[in-house]
Amino acid sequence: MVVAFLGTHVPLLTLLFYFISSSAIAPDDRLRILGIALLATLMGTAATLLALHNLLSPIGLTAFSLRNYWDKQQLPTLPTQYTDDAGILMANATQIVKQLDDVLRYVTDYDRLTGLPNRELFKSRLQKEISTIQPQQRITVFIVDVDGFKDLNTVEDDEVGNRILRAIAQRLTDYADGSGTLARLGNDEFALFQKGALASEPGFSTAQNILRAINQPYPEISPSLYITASIGISIYPTDSDTADRLIADAYTALQQANHKSDNYQFYSPEIAIALQKHLRLAKDLRSALANNQLLLHYQPRIDWRSSQMVGVECLIRWQHPELGWVSPAEFIPIAEETGLILPIGEWILRTACQQNKAWQRSGLKPFAMAVNLSARQIESPGLVDFVQLVLRETELAPKFLELEVTESLLMGNTEPTLAVLESLHSKGIALALDDFGTGYSSLSYLRKFPFDTLKIDQSFVKDMVHSADAAEVIRAIVSLAKGLRLGLIAEGIETEEQLNQIKTYDCHEVQGYYFSKPLPAEELTRRLQQPHPWQVTTPTPIPQLMTT
Ligand code: C2E
Ligand code: MG
Ligand code: MG
Repeated sequence: MVVAFLGTHVPLLTLLFYFISSSAIAPDDRLRILGIALLATLMGTAATLLALHNLLSPIGLTAFSLRNYWDKQQLPTLPTQYTDDAGILMANATQIVKQLDDVLRYVTDYDRLTGLPNRELFKSRLQKEISTIQPQQRITVFIVDVDGFKDLNTVEDDEVGNRILRAIAQRLTDYADGSGTLARLGNDEFALFQKGALASEPGFSTAQNILRAINQPYPEISPSLYITASIGISIYPTDSDTADRLIADAYTALQQANHKSDNYQFYSPEIAIALQKHLRLAKDLRSALANNQLLLHYQPRIDWRSSQMVGVECLIRWQHPELGWVSPAEFIPIAEETGLILPIGEWILRTACQQNKAWQRSGLKPFAMAVNLSARQIESPGLVDFVQLVLRETELAPKFLELEVTESLLMGNTEPTLAVLESLHSKGIALALDDFGTGYSSLSYLRKFPFDTLKIDQSFVKDMVHSADAAEVIRAIVSLAKGLRLGLIAEGIETEEQLNQIKTYDCHEVQGYYFSKPLPAEELTRRLQQPHPWQVTTPTPIPQLMTT
């Protein structure tokens, strides 16, 4: 302001003073002239400032709006009706900031690969939906995970993986068709939430339709590509009432659904407890071996004709310091999942062979030691060498070792499995097919693989007394084993009645609680020192279920 005043008026006023002081003007007139000149000067300055203000205020306003956007992410609300230069400046600034805001929003809220909302936007929309929902409505959250995407991605290159994810995003978008919010949460995980009436079906059909949409062929990527997914589902308000919790619940359900492919699972508190236990066991199993919490028990296999023990099966036990005995049916799958089955499996094999050699050295009549192997062990490259190493180390003859595998191993990629089993067999190690009858073994597999023995699954033994079908299955297995010249063992004999029935089927070897539970080595040693350890004199009474 001072600059404007001085700049425009100092030269003029100087001229005026010079004129007044140098001419012969009366003092009164001089004062009047000076007063008028001063007034005119002030009015001129005010007019100049007003003009300057009008010229500069759009620039100030624009600067203020930009700062406001920068600090508070508030979009500018500048006037856009003016067509002069300043007006155009304001209109352009507004438009550019809006465009910039759109781009920023897209980058922070949307997934670059699929263009779907990302996890943060999904969560905030879900939370917003929760805050405005009517009492008679529910929200169902689905988290969709592509089965085996990690393997798929390592086999194929990245671009194929990206095309698959984009194709899945497209199918989900087509399916959802604008109903609900769809998102890509990350990697191979997608999510959808939908609002519906409390009284309506909670989401079974949506889950089924999503699975169906995903497992349709993808000819545009590869004619042989087959993709399945698993879905975890949670519901507002039944399960939780915040977006974070609902998403966490759906993840919990997903972990359960992931056990099988092409499958969905609703959240329940029981699942959450089971998952917690699973995670805890997985964590604790890591140190179980080092802390001597794992041990082996041995269950005799008896030839009922002679009442002689012909072998033992070694079965692992875990004594957890807080949870007590944990069943191998519970922790072996965890050991497989985590890869811990490899060090644990090595320890089992070494301990079992050492124990068998120790029994032989103690003067007992030699018998076979059966050891269970899981699929992960058979697939691990050094298995055959390791088994040979252990046999050498323990000086146990290979004929006193038998390895048991289950039928599931024979599905899928069988050639490498066949090579491993043949190699073991050629070293003189016996092979048994465990839990026979529960899986998918075909006759061709049985002929192709070098098995010596079939172990009839205990579920048939349990049912055969009451179920003609189960009895028929056992009869069929017996004749199959005879035809293929395979040995047979019936597992899970608990009662005399079961034993008597097995006796009629030409199956001579049996294993089960009727003779003995799996025992610690010392207890089995003690038992073997008795004159007739396996002659059961007092038959167990059988509770008979009467059916009308
Ligand atoms: P499996 O190999 O079929 O073992 C037989 C299971 O039946 C054992 O359960 C045994 O204790 C049980 N059993 C034996 N006789 C009877 C009976 O008369 N009645 C009943 N109800 N059960 C009987 P366990 O020890 O709980 O093992 C369960 C499964 O865990 C085993 O089934 C096997 O698949 C796995 N497993 C156990 N030990 C090992 C191991 O050292 N390595 C591997 N990879 N898996 C193991
Ligand atoms: Mg077994
Ligand atoms: Mg079995």
